[in-house]
Amino acid sequence: MIYGKEKHLVVDYSKCDGHGICAEMCPEWVHLDQFGFPVLRAGSIPKEVIRHAEKAVLECPKLAIKLIALS
Ligand code: SF4
Repeated sequence: MIYGKEKHLVVDYSKCDGHGICAEMCPEWVHLDQFGFPVLRAGSIPKEVIRHAEKAVLECPKLAIKLIALS
């Protein structure tokens, strides 16, 4: 968990296989395009969504989605 800074979800599309698990884990912030690849909302993750965002990171089988902190 990252404390004290704005958190953003980012996807490394070179690793992503389009499994779509991230969209299942965090539907508030991630939806899938027509090919099954994630499209993220812009901006920092609100605190009420952060648990789901963390779950998306943990469940991604390709380690392709991360939470980063921006100051
Ligand atoms: S769970 Fe991971 S591999 Fe699957 S679509 Fe999301 S970022 Fe890509």
